[in-house]
Amino acid sequence: MYIHRFILLIIAFFTLLIYSLFGYNFLKQEEAIASVMLKTLNSSLSETSYQLSKNLKTKEDITISRPILDRIAANQSFINAIVVVDGNKVLLSTDPHYRSEFICAEDSSSMSAYQTLTKKKSIEQEIRFYNGSNLETLTLIYVLNQNEIKTYFIKNQKEFLIYFGLLPIFLLFVMFILLRRFISIPLEKLRQFAYYQSEIPKVYKIRELESIRYSMVQTFSRLEAEKNELYLIARTDALSGLANRNSLEEYLQKLIASSLRENREFAFLFLDIDHFKSINDSLGHNVGDELLKNVASVIQKVVRPNDIVARIGGDEFVIILQNYDTYLELSAIIERIQKQLMRPWLIQNHPIHISSSVGIALYPDDGTDIVTLMKHSDIAMYQAKKNGRSRYQFFTQELNHSIQHLIQLDKEMRWALEHSEYELYYQPKIDLKSGKIVGAEALIRWISPEKGIIAPDTFIPLAEENGFIVKLGDWIIDEALNQHLKWKEKGIDIIISINISTKQLLEIGFVNKLIEKIESKKVDPAKIDIEITEYMFIEANKESHDILNAISDYGISISLDDFGTGYSSLSYLKKFPIDYLKIDKTFLDDYNTEDGAVFIETIVKMGQVLKIKVVAEGVEEEDQVHFLKEIGCDQYQGYYCSKPLKVTEFEIKYQNLLLR
Ligand code: C2E
Ligand code: CA
Ligand code: CA
Repeated sequence: MYIHRFILLIIAFFTLLIYSLFGYNFLKQEEAIASVMLKTLNSSLSETSYQLSKNLKTKEDITISRPILDRIAANQSFINAIVVVDGNKVLLSTDPHYRSEFICAEDSSSMSAYQTLTKKKSIEQEIRFYNGSNLETLTLIYVLNQNEIKTYFIKNQKEFLIYFGLLPIFLLFVMFILLRRFISIPLEKLRQFAYYQSEIPKVYKIRELESIRYSMVQTFSRLEAEKNELYLIARTDALSGLANRNSLEEYLQKLIASSLRENREFAFLFLDIDHFKSINDSLGHNVGDELLKNVASVIQKVVRPNDIVARIGGDEFVIILQNYDTYLELSAIIERIQKQLMRPWLIQNHPIHISSSVGIALYPDDGTDIVTLMKHSDIAMYQAKKNGRSRYQFFTQELNHSIQHLIQLDKEMRWALEHSEYELYYQPKIDLKSGKIVGAEALIRWISPEKGIIAPDTFIPLAEENGFIVKLGDWIIDEALNQHLKWKEKGIDIIISINISTKQLLEIGFVNKLIEKIESKKVDPAKIDIEITEYMFIEANKESHDILNAISDYGISISLDDFGTGYSSLSYLKKFPIDYLKIDKTFLDDYNTEDGAVFIETIVKMGQVLKIKVVAEGVEEEDQVHFLKEIGCDQYQGYYCSKPLKVTEFEIKYQNLLLR
């Protein structure tokens, strides 16, 4: 049973009790009033009969008393009429209704006063008088006004009901509300808190409830803290404070689920300290333990806070890395961990030098479940040990090779800049109307003493990936500007186009640096053009807009390279300050198909409308040149005129075309 119902029931019971007491009392009081009323009427009856008897000599004399009776009847609201009868025969009546005969009401001695008043028709009294010496009797009757009497009592009952009937109902209702508010609801909240430990109930008004609530909250929070502590103990490695195998498995389960959902990759690293056993054996477990603690904290410092590090055995650690964009970046993180671990340690006054071997398995390529990832990273780790320790090894052999290759290339590429192995070649841009060279695109070449000429496609993507492009790009700009000045002196005053990769362009301070270079070398900005690709618009729209505007405002022209291959949209062309559109070679290859021709023509027309010059790339045949001329394209570039050339060769080409 609910507490509020229970209390309500008790209240209802007592109310009923009080009700009955009051009811009983009320009835008693009603009887008392009725008895007073009846007594008054009876005494008035006696009084009147005595008065009448005094004046009577014969029965007929009674008629003289009529005015007296009229007055009495008029004054008494509970009396309808006064009648005097002889036997049943009416001698006198104050009401014409009772004229001939009146039969007296039955005996009322057994009735209560209330019943007498409300049930009986009349009350009567004998009038005795002496006619000479004869005792004669008449009967004086008060005909009761039942309506008036009943109305009087009903009015009384109504008042009683209002005070003693409705009031308790109202009180009951108020009590019910208060009970709910201060007892039932708080108790229910406590129950929910105990059951679900949902929300902590606020302070209660009722003291006892408040103390129960307070102690409950205290107990629950203590239990919660204890539970958390136990949970933590069960999931951390006591020595290192890292996650233990249990918690690693739990974490991996979640990670695998979310990686599967989001189609993401992560790296599972198995790290083992090289020759740890010999340190442990020779210097003792204390030293070994402390070393492991230090290793743990070093690894944790190198990785990001949301990468997980776990110790799963003596000197075996598992590291899960998610925040890397390329394998090169991943390798860099691993190298950083290994390098940090290799610094000399001083543990309990023992100088110690360690190295580590790391095996890497990738989710999902090398395994999609915990067991496989663990097994494959372990295999890779053993391979790393076999290969001479202090190194890392990917589980997949091809990946090992390609990453090794990239790392090698990365090193050599940087080395090449310091040893001046780069050179800029220039490919002419020809004006289709005049047939003269109006510009040159600078294209980088790596001239390796061992490998010969290396094309930009082999190293520019890597340079863009690892950020080296910023440094290399600086060199390219300097070199191209210098070349412009040298040519200007020789009378080759043409526009030089420089390819700028998106990463380079978005580098903070790029525009200022570019302008500074142009300013310090006193180059006319109108003679410099930069070639950008459509990726620029996608990467950082707002920044791109500001950067390109600044460049354009300074007077440098902007070419949109490889147009048509990316995510070109007309809105870009209107929004960004583009001076040249370079139609990609793939479209020129198709110039003799209907679709290809229409595409090129459309771009040219669009350029004319938008006041953007159109340059065709990769033009290799004479027919292509005719076609481009016909449709009104502005410039072209391609092997038909010339491949990218060394500076000296370019100068010869320029002079030759000038003379034609
Ligand atoms: P890109 O900017 O689209 O350069 C045009 C590429 O097409 C050049 O290749 C050029 O040699 C080649 N080409 C020009 N005409 C013809 C032709 O008629 N037929 C054929 N088959 N190819 C032609 P390259 O020099 O190997 O450059 C490749 C890419 O490397 C460039 O594409 C550019 O994206 C990048 N690159 C080259 N130099 C630089 C540089 O200095 N800085 C930056 N950021 N990227 C560069
Ligand atoms: Ca280009
Ligand atoms: Ca191009």
